[in-house]
Amino acid sequence: MLVVMRQDATAEQIAGVVRAIEARGFKAHAIPGAQRTAIGITGNRGAVDRPVFKSLPGVLEVIPVSHAYKLVSREVKPENTVVRVGEVTIGGDRLAIAAGPCAVESLEQTLTVARAVRRGGANLLRGGAFKPRTSPYSFQGLGEEGLRILAAAREETGLPIVTEALDTESVDLVERYADVIQVGARNMQNFSLLKRCGKARKPVLLKRGLAATLEEFLMSAEYMLAEGNYDVILCERGVRTFSDFSRNTLDLAVVPAVKALSHLPILVDPSHGTGRRDKVAPMSRGAVAVGADGLILEVHHDPDAALLDGPQSITPPQFEGLVRELRQIAPILGRTL
Ligand code: PEP
Ligand code: MN
Repeated sequence: MLVVMRQDATAEQIAGVVRAIEARGFKAHAIPGAQRTAIGITGNRGAVDRPVFKSLPGVLEVIPVSHAYKLVSREVKPENTVVRVGEVTIGGDRLAIAAGPCAVESLEQTLTVARAVRRGGANLLRGGAFKPRTSPYSFQGLGEEGLRILAAAREETGLPIVTEALDTESVDLVERYADVIQVGARNMQNFSLLKRCGKARKPVLLKRGLAATLEEFLMSAEYMLAEGNYDVILCERGVRTFSDFSRNTLDLAVVPAVKALSHLPILVDPSHGTGRRDKVAPMSRGAVAVGADGLILEVHHDPDAALLDGPQSITPPQFEGLVRELRQIAPILGRTL
């Protein structure tokens, strides 16, 4: 249910509605808009008594939200959400480019890649300190040491860092270092992790699960908004299909679908989405063309020696060339880079 306030509603009237919602044991989510404030109601099991809220001072109307997801939907918030990470914005006119290695391997490797992507035009640094691996015998990441290395790279380059939290136990630690907490594809329906990230005070990058429908994807984001974290960035990273020419099938069509249904920003990850270096640039160009708010790219200065995901990592010169192309494509779409 959504309580839409009148344009001239006062802060006291808004607070009064919030109190009335909370007094009934529900959760109130005030969503300021360009024209007026709306207040989402969640936590109700049955119907909400509409006339009660309709009669409160400052209320224009009380409308049911038809989708299963509420707070992420455009019904509740028509304007795009712009997530701020320091000076970087995600979801506004400017495209966000997160780039960096799949995994933090060493200080030297991370600094080398961080400097290169900074020079090439990235505005965020990506890199995993905790890695979700299919095999328990594979390199699992450097853990806290990796987070310290990322912090050093941020210190030197000024780039905010995006890094993954694998489980509820590690969120405290990751939250201390990260500027954006990544929830990986395999964790998209790890509901306890989603709830914990919903309590985090840092933005969250939520990657689409390997077999997730659009509704499941949005419902996972809803978990975090329902807990009070409204700074959620979606990420399409490819889904598993019968197609065998690429690691995953990058579902670019989900970008306009998300844009129609949700106000949240969405990035595209063509590295995991294709698994092949030569496909990263064309799919990146496509992602920007279909309306993505930016990209997350794996870049490595020596991909053949990379501990993880070398075959899909582009080199710094390839990254620079791609950003140059995107700078030409962006203005056609009313975006900057
Ligand atoms: C990653 O970004 O390195 C990663 C593991 O991604 P995903 O969760 O999409 O596989
Ligand atoms: Mn990877």
